[in-house]
Amino acid sequence: MISFELTDEQRLVQQTAREFADREIIPRARANDRNEHFDLELVAKLAEVGFLGSIVSEEYGGRGIDYRTYALIVEEVGRGDSSSVAKLFATEASVRSANSAIQVHGGAGYVDEYPVERYLRDARVTTLYEGTSQIQKLIIGRAVTGVNAMT
Ligand SMILES: Cc1cc2nc3c(=O)[nH]c(=O)nc-3n(C[C@H](O)[C@H](O)[C@H](O)COP(=O)(O)OP(=O)(O)OC[C@H]3O[C@@H](n4cnc5c(N)ncnc54)[C@H](O)[C@@H]3O)c2cc1C
Repeated sequence: MISFELTDEQRLVQQTAREFADREIIPRARANDRNEHFDLELVAKLAEVGFLGSIVSEEYGGRGIDYRTYALIVEEVGRGDSSSVAKLFATEASVRSANSAIQVHGGAGYVDEYPVERYLRDARVTTLYEGTSQIQKLIIGRAVTGVNAMT
């Protein structure tokens, strides 16, 4: 039987991400949105706290955390500001997580007898509607470089 209870470590990461969102993201989200400001300072802070690339293994400079912990971070960051960065980050993470869930369940992950295969389809569509991942990347790229590659 799989336990869906969060471990102490996961709760700690969730709490840290929650406090980070309350302290660093929410107070500036509205102004950033209104001013169409891409907040590089906030990106640096996300990196500083270890939230960027956190599923990358430690060997390559990440934190090597599991997908569940990653989802907890994504949930809190997304709660703070559902901008292009958050949307891209959260939806691509959900696809990777659902894809891994299929792998972990083997054949049972593929057949429609169980809901696992449905989770992937549900996650996949979030990278399409409300701005596809490619369009989010173009928006982020434009904000970071000032070059508009949309046309
Ligand atoms: C279940 C579901 C619900 C939806 N609900 C709504 C809704 O409520 N309201 C609404 O308005 N729309 C809705 N849509 C439509 C959705 O927003 C579009 O499907 C989405 O924006 C992609 O547009 P498209 O299908 O025309 O693909 P296209 O624009 O033809 O894009 C096809 C592919 O090309 C890529 N692409 C396109 N342009 C570029 C570019 N310049 N550079 C790089 N790659 C590019 C895209 O990322 C995509 O991968 C929904 C779609 C689905 C599947």
